[in-house]
Amino acid sequence: MRPLLLSLSLLAIGLSACRPAPEATTGQTGQVPQAASVQQATRPVATDADDNLNAVLWVQRSQEYRANALSLFRAAADHLDAAIAEKNWDALVPDERDNPQAWAELPPAVIMDIDETVLDNSPYQARLVRDGLEYDEATWAAWVAEKKAEPVPGVVDFARAASQKGVTILYLSNRAQHLNEATLANLRAVGLPVKDDSVFLGLGTHVEGCEQHGSEKLCRRRLAGRDYRVIMQFGDQLGDFVQVMVNTEEARDGLLEEYGDWFGERWWMLANPTYGGWEPALFNNAWDQPREQRRAAKREALRLAR
Ligand SMILES: [Mg+2]
Repeated sequence: MRPLLLSLSLLAIGLSACRPAPEATTGQTGQVPQAASVQQATRPVATDADDNLNAVLWVQRSQEYRANALSLFRAAADHLDAAIAEKNWDALVPDERDNPQAWAELPPAVIMDIDETVLDNSPYQARLVRDGLEYDEATWAAWVAEKKAEPVPGVVDFARAASQKGVTILYLSNRAQHLNEATLANLRAVGLPVKDDSVFLGLGTHVEGCEQHGSEKLCRRRLAGRDYRVIMQFGDQLGDFVQVMVNTEEARDGLLEEYGDWFGERWWMLANPTYGGWEPALFNNAWDQPREQRRAAKREALRLAR
């Protein structure tokens, strides 16, 4: 996932980014597996406790989740005019720009992650809970191939409003390349503006002069910045906005401290309680541990008092 020359901790974050979720998938086979619904017909229904039961239900069944997402996109929409008008408004961190002197006059764009930012994959997570399974590339690819993900509440209105104001929506996702066609079809089917196929910056997008490592999004943000003034970024993971060099709680805290002021103005973070880099940070990114061992580490991480 990461360059061999980088530290093991960098390797760990790359793995953590790809393991639990659709956020990153590599080693694609190019094969679209049998539809999950067919596979699941023969599986027993799991009844054991599952770490994700409440999180998935919150996303699917709570009015609070929907209200939260609606609030975020409406607030972002309220910032659109100012972001478009202010030529020094940029949502890329300076270190991730190749053109530090020449971006202000570029046309405006918004970078949006896809999974759990614009498309809701909670039905996939729900199937895992039902069947007592964890994420894997085959079941994930089968879900994506169904093209049944619904939009996150509020995103279509926001994206259309931005598009009508002349803002290009860029979709920067770690979905594997063999899923590109299904992904674009799903985005279009739910009414999201897709100007053309070039606005999809998927895993494996070639970026001249930038060596991409695994699932990190740095090079693709650089690519976006060469052609656009990026007025906003949307995601559900810290790594959707800026490079997370080491996936430890301390490093993640540091990023939030450094860029906390950007949230709610240039950066917009969707709530995703079902997976993300925060979880493996609690068990040292050791996905090779048995599930119960990871769970034990998470129980150890519970704060019983401040
Ligand atoms: Mg995501």
